[in-house]
Amino acid sequence: MTGIDLHCHSTASDGTFTPAELVRAGAAAGLDVMAITDHDTTGGWDEAAAARPAGLRLVRGAELSCRWHGAEPAIPLHLLAYLFDPAEPVLAGELVRLREDREQRAEKIVGKLRADGVPISWDEVSGYAAGGSVGRPHIAQALIRAGLVRTTTEAFASAWLGARYFVPKSDLDVFDAVRAVREAGGVAVFAHPRATVRGRVVPDELIAELARAGLFGLEADHEDHTPAERAQVRALADRLGLVVTGSSDFHGTHKAVQLGAFTTDPEAYEKIVSAAAGVPVLG
Ligand code: AMP
Ligand code: FE
Ligand code: FE
Ligand code: ZN
Repeated sequence: MTGIDLHCHSTASDGTFTPAELVRAGAAAGLDVMAITDHDTTGGWDEAAAARPAGLRLVRGAELSCRWHGAEPAIPLHLLAYLFDPAEPVLAGELVRLREDREQRAEKIVGKLRADGVPISWDEVSGYAAGGSVGRPHIAQALIRAGLVRTTTEAFASAWLGARYFVPKSDLDVFDAVRAVREAGGVAVFAHPRATVRGRVVPDELIAELARAGLFGLEADHEDHTPAERAQVRALADRLGLVVTGSSDFHGTHKAVQLGAFTTDPEAYEKIVSAAAGVPVLG
């Protein structure tokens, strides 16, 4: 078993493949194991499970929008949560709150754009999100439709969603997130922890503290890490006794990266599965 991709998005958040299309594409790409990890939602789990092709193992998860308050201003970060019980009330409540916050924030961004005469509307943007977690890629889609930018990447430039029309999300304190994932029987892995291309990153000391609080792994192999950053993450994981993962962070046509572009070693995958007690791997 070799093809293990533990970080993929569907239309339940800001991916462009439906959960059913995602699992079929995973099997077609030759993956043995795939995780569905939409931003702040388990909304794609049932459809992905129902459409799972025989031979593909499905890890149900989510990518949680978190924040570390030890810096000023607080640093946003993403935590991958695997195999947690979606009915556990604390984590489920936080997911609802995060999605509501995403909606309010997206409406504010649309309001700022409209105030400057940009011809898009909240109806249009929420239509693109189609009931899933709303994200800036959905606003980018409206900007593309309005002819103001050509690509999602252009829409994230500082003249648009990157800075001028940026509104922060409120997010979940990262220590509360690790605790909530564990209490729901899940396993927490820090997504792209050294991705300086995305902005500020947290210090090693914070990652050490998170490891003591129950963080299980670090995502090392990711397109947003340089080879040097991947090596740094591996060394840190070794030092802290954390597992190392690799994954595509597939978003369909919102990003160029393909399924299975980065993968996780079977040993690390088996450790994650053994540590989880919320829901089983399917398949
Ligand atoms: P949000 O979660 O609403 O803050 O939006 C962040 C999401 O936008 C990320 O999960 C990526 O899917 C996407 N994204 C971030 N930066 C870029 C970029 N430069 N180009 C394309 N997509 C991006
Ligand atoms: Fe995303
Ligand atoms: Fe992420
Ligand atoms: Zn992601």
